[in-house]
Amino acid sequence: MGNGASAAVAAAASAMSEAEIKSAVAGLPSDAASKLRDAVGSLGQPAEDKGNNILDSMYWRERGRHHVAMDSAPEAIEAALEAAAAVILEADALLFITGAGMGVDMGLSDFRSSAAFWEQLAHPEIHSYEDSSDSAWFEKDPKLAWGINYHQLDAYRKATPHDGYGVLLRMAQSKGVDHHFCWTSNVDGVFQRAGFSYERVREVHGCIHRLQCTRGRKCKGADGKVTEPWEQEVKLELTNEYRCSDALPLPTCPACGSLARPNLWFCTDHGNYLPWNRLIKVGEAYPEWLDHMEAQSKKVVVIECGAGLVIPSARCEAEDVAERFGTTLVRINPTDHMVPTAAPVGIGLPLGSATALSNIWKRVEKLRDADRSC
Ligand SMILES: [Zn+2]
Repeated sequence: MGNGASAAVAAAASAMSEAEIKSAVAGLPSDAASKLRDAVGSLGQPAEDKGNNILDSMYWRERGRHHVAMDSAPEAIEAALEAAAAVILEADALLFITGAGMGVDMGLSDFRSSAAFWEQLAHPEIHSYEDSSDSAWFEKDPKLAWGINYHQLDAYRKATPHDGYGVLLRMAQSKGVDHHFCWTSNVDGVFQRAGFSYERVREVHGCIHRLQCTRGRKCKGADGKVTEPWEQEVKLELTNEYRCSDALPLPTCPACGSLARPNLWFCTDHGNYLPWNRLIKVGEAYPEWLDHMEAQSKKVVVIECGAGLVIPSARCEAEDVAERFGTTLVRINPTDHMVPTAAPVGIGLPLGSATALSNIWKRVEKLRDADRSC
C-alpha cells in the first residue's frame, strides 16, 4: 500500500461513524480498503462507565469518542503485535507511559476501581478511592489515613514486577543510553525496582514509598529550608478495619516531629504535596529530552500500558507525544484500547500489559534475528 493510500486509511478511520467508514472503504483502492476493514473493528466505546461519567468527560467528548477500536479477532491481534514489533525495532527512542492497568498484571488492585475494598472498609464517609484520597484524613483520623495508605503501600512493596517491566527495560537498553523515558501516573515505584534509573522516570503523582511532613512547605529545618521528602521503609500493623493498631508508631517528620504522610499527590490535596527535588529535576528533564529528540529528528515511538479513561492524563500525554513526532502510539489495554487513528499510526492491543509486552518482544527478537541473517 502506498503512502497516499495509507494516509487515506488513517484519515478515514479517524473520527467517523460506521456508515462513513463503510462509505470511505468503498472509495479506496481494494488493498487499502481491506487493511482498513482489518484494522478497524468499530468506533471506540468505553468498556465500562462504572458511574465515572466517562461519556460526559471532556476527554471523551473531544478525543475518545472519535477513536477507533481494533478488531480483537486472533489474526487481527497477531497483525497488531507484528506491527508494534516492527515500529519498536525501527524506533530511535521510546517513551513508556504507564497507568494503573500496568500494576494489575502484578496482582495489584487498581484501588480506584476496586469496589470490593471500599465496601469492606464500610466507612460512613469513605465509599471510593476519591473519598479516601484526601490529605485532610491525616488530620481527621491519622490511624485510618495511614491504614488505607499502608494497605496499598504494603501490597506494592510485596509485588514482584511482572515480565512486562523486564521487556520495557530490554527495549530501553536496545536503544542506547538516554534514548528512553518513562512517564507514569502510578505511585508504586515499580519502574525503579525493575532496574530503571530515577533520572528516567517521571512520576507525575509522586511515590507512596517516600514520605514528607504533613505540614508540607511550612516545615522548615534549622537552616530555614523546606524539609525535603525522604525515603523510609514504613512498618505498621493494621487491624481488620484497615486502621493502624497501637503496636507500632505512625511515621513522623525528622525535622519537626509532626505526622509524616506518603509523598504522593492525593485527589484532594490541601496544598501540602511537596514534590521531591530529585523528581522536580526529572520533571524538567522530560520536556528537554523531548525537545532534544525532536531537534535531532529522532523517531520516538510511544508505548502506553494500562492507562485508563477515568483520569485520562496518561492517554493524553501518549497521544500528544505521538502526534508531535508523527510516530506510532502502541496502546496496550485489555478493555479501552481505542486509538486516535488506525494502524500504522495507532496500534491498539486488547491485551494485558505483561502478555502484550512479552509477545511484542518475541516478535522484535525474531525480526532482529531475520535482519541479522540477511
Ligand atoms: Zn515537619
